[in-house]
Amino acid sequence: MVCHCRFCQRVTGSSSFAEAMYPMDAVTLSGITPSSYAHRSEGSSQLVHVHFCPRCGSTVSLTFERWPQVRGLSRGAFDDPNSVSIGSHIWTESAQSGVVLPADTDCFRQARATLDGTPLAPERYAAPELARPEA
Ligand SMILES: [Zn+2]
Repeated sequence: MVCHCRFCQRVTGSSSFAEAMYPMDAVTLSGITPSSYAHRSEGSSQLVHVHFCPRCGSTVSLTFERWPQVRGLSRGAFDDPNSVSIGSHIWTESAQSGVVLPADTDCFRQARATLDGTPLAPERYAAPELARPEA
């Protein structure tokens, strides 16, 4: 998924953060042990742990207090980022001006679910659409 929240914009220094979500026990990290820091989510008030390469600073993955069974891997950290498809866009309400959301892709103005875990219905567009048409 691609997250357009302000935290992900700061983490990447860009417009969004693309990550692939995996069950925690399906991922093994090797090589240099990532460094990490914790950020308290403005939305859920729970911690998001950012794991990054201590040598180059690249964000490698995110883990979540809210979803301890899941690890997000940075799409940009894959040897072939295009091997991971983008299935959804979240927090589109905070997307930067000029960001275009793709057609036929699940888009969520905020998270994919409420804080109690209830899934939210996505918006889907027939054609690419500006995330902030007013900007
Ligand atoms: Zn985010």
